[in-house]
Amino acid sequence: MIISALKSSDKLDNRSPIHPDTASALIKLGAEVNFETGIGEGIFASDNIFEDLGLKLSTREECLKSSDLVISNQPLNIDEISLMKTGSTLLGMVNPFSNQELIDSCAKSKINLVSMEFIPRITRAQKMDVLSSQANLAGYVSVLESASLLSSALPMMMTAAGTLKPARVFVIGVGVAGLQAIATAKRLGARVEAFDTRDVVEEQVNSLGAKFVKIDLGETGQTDQGYAKELTPEQIQKQKDLQSDVCARSDIVITTAQLFGRPAPQLIDNRTIEKMKPGSVVFDMAVESGGNVEGSLVDEVVIKNGVKIVGYSNLASRVADHASLALSNNFNHWICDFHDSTENKIIFDFEDEIIKSSVLVYEGNIINERFK
Ligand code: NAD
Repeated sequence: MIISALKSSDKLDNRSPIHPDTASALIKLGAEVNFETGIGEGIFASDNIFEDLGLKLSTREECLKSSDLVISNQPLNIDEISLMKTGSTLLGMVNPFSNQELIDSCAKSKINLVSMEFIPRITRAQKMDVLSSQANLAGYVSVLESASLLSSALPMMMTAAGTLKPARVFVIGVGVAGLQAIATAKRLGARVEAFDTRDVVEEQVNSLGAKFVKIDLGETGQTDQGYAKELTPEQIQKQKDLQSDVCARSDIVITTAQLFGRPAPQLIDNRTIEKMKPGSVVFDMAVESGGNVEGSLVDEVVIKNGVKIVGYSNLASRVADHASLALSNNFNHWICDFHDSTENKIIFDFEDEIIKSSVLVYEGNIINERFK
């Protein structure tokens, strides 16, 4: 089996789908592992490092043409799909909800497509869960970037020159990213409050030493995969009204609220921003999926009434080495779990829950109902 790892095609994404510390797992399978030249630039890993580990340097075109399995942390374009061998597999982060064209072209060219975004949320699949591994780092980065834009420090400091009050941080949405944001802000000494529509997270918030803000929105809840259920427009309005006082007293507000496969809910509007203190920071972690904050723009800091609204994308890429280590482990686990050593190939057993969920296209057919 020939496996090829591609360099990220997005200039803002410094991550690599292979990492020097984890590449041996693929070599041990008995596979030939190729990589696109320059793949490790964003993590300061030269081509030589990968060659010394037994991987083979190649061009992007050669990787696409020769491989049985291509791994990529960005979607491919249609021309690239047309270069791949019939019956080969693309395993990657392919942003499927905005990439119907890619899905259709894989079906047409009989390329199997595995979307790492569709790894199911079951215990056995946690080691393959790219959304969680990257959201965790993104939550950490959101706090560091917000702190760097604030004109005060986060911890309380009792100095001879006076007592400096701790910063107040409010985290909206307590999934993987939100929990890490809370933990990071606490470690830096901030006073942290948090809210989520899934009230099951109250205990997790308290266990990190933060305070859960109680807002009664009537019936809310979560799906069997642990994702939040969409709120009604009336519930969203109520949430905006009731949480605006918490925003007004905060120095940093970090929003992480997402709805799987749907645009993110807008939770902070201009009325709330007008109530906030000049110099405070609102960090919109959902900016790439529609945004939680009115007026946030991708990769920009918009200043409104002195409040900095931050919309940085590719957050995990700002800690690219750790992000690549986690990502490569996620990919390797999928490959190793479904590789058959006798036949030296990937076995697609649709009785397996992980295969059933993550494989979007197989042998020319779109498997996942959402994309038919
Ligand atoms: P996500 O990225 O889909 O959303 C982020 C958070 O925003 C969620 O906690 C969600 O409840 C919240 N949210 C949505 N609308 C909101 C609103 N209007 N106001 C406030 N908050 C709102 O979520 P996620 O990080 O993927 O995690 C969701 C859950 O799944 C978590 O409890 C997580 O621990 C769990 N999880 C389980 C597994 C597993 O079992 N394998 C893997 C990953 C995550």
